[in-house]
Amino acid sequence: MVIAKAWALKKHFDGFPKTSDFELKKIELPNLKDGGEQKLLLESVFLSVDPYMRPYSRRDMKEGDIMIGTQVARIVESKNPAFAVGAFVVGNRGWRTHFISDGKDLQLLPSNWPESLPRSLALGTVGMPGLTAYFGLLEVCKMKPGETVLVNAAAGAVGSVVGQLAKIGGCKVVGCAGSDDKVAYLKKIGFDEAFNYKTVKSLDEALRKASPEGYDCFFDNVGGDFASAAIKQMKKYGRIAVCGAISQYNESVPQKGPYVQIPMIFQELKMEGFIVTRWDNRREEGLRALLKWVVEGKVKYHEQVTEGFENMPMAFIGMLKGENIGKAVVKV
Ligand code: NDP
Repeated sequence: MVIAKAWALKKHFDGFPKTSDFELKKIELPNLKDGGEQKLLLESVFLSVDPYMRPYSRRDMKEGDIMIGTQVARIVESKNPAFAVGAFVVGNRGWRTHFISDGKDLQLLPSNWPESLPRSLALGTVGMPGLTAYFGLLEVCKMKPGETVLVNAAAGAVGSVVGQLAKIGGCKVVGCAGSDDKVAYLKKIGFDEAFNYKTVKSLDEALRKASPEGYDCFFDNVGGDFASAAIKQMKKYGRIAVCGAISQYNESVPQKGPYVQIPMIFQELKMEGFIVTRWDNRREEGLRALLKWVVEGKVKYHEQVTEGFENMPMAFIGMLKGENIGKAVVKV
């Protein structure tokens, strides 16, 4: 018999999440059975902490529920021939050290996953955040070679891939992030221009200096003041992919304008919100492309690894505060 540890949402977040909003629980797992749904026992090896957990917890969870989220897990026991003991999968079973599954909700890591690559990348650059960058740029921004792409939260899991894919696609890339170390990282991975949005005197000036002729594509991870400044500097027929609004997730009082209509009209812009699962039917295509670019060294990655399952709430809060370069993950 296995006792799993799991983090529950003790209290709905009010403003910025606190460690006291979480509770560590112990859950006794049943033994596996030949028939029915209890066919696999898995142990989480890496768990993901992502911004969406903040707004989705309010929308989808009640107090006492286990926190939502994905993991890379190893098959420990199997009564399902499709999953060998020792194989690694991506699961969507929340903040748990162990869980039982029938296999239907699990995705095996690609069979050509190189030994040299950390499997945690399946939660980041070669996982959901990488796919978000891929489909957001190709299908929403519809970037073309020679265009200028702007991305914010650029040193994070999604943003760092957006910038690099835009470079592969022949674009000029401008990124902003919240520390000088992050700006240095952006330059290192090939961004043409990068600035620290927290220390520039004026966002308008920084954006104009980075691309005096304006922006064709804006991949928005942040919303709020930054998006308001960026929209004014879009080129005619510019495209804005509304991916995230992290500047608003922890606000108790809704932010107010400026509003988007005037620049949208004058510059004839297109602005489209999206959720990466829209392209679930093309997941394999996206992962194959991302894995290939990583293996070839065309897409670089960095991970912020927090050690220890007991530190998951801290890792989540740290990511929301901007402590991560690249993807924030927890190693059990
Ligand atoms: P990141 O790895 O980018 O981590 C979050 C980053 O957001 C922090 O490091 C911090 O970087 C930045 N940030 C936090 N608070 C603020 C703020 N008030 N203003 C500006 N920046 C802030 O996370 P992800 O790459 O996983 O996610 C990025 C965005 O993409 C999020 O908004 C997320 O919700 C969205 N997303 C959307 C998906 C979709 O399907 N639509 C799928 C996946 C993600 P810094 O130091 O630069 O401030």
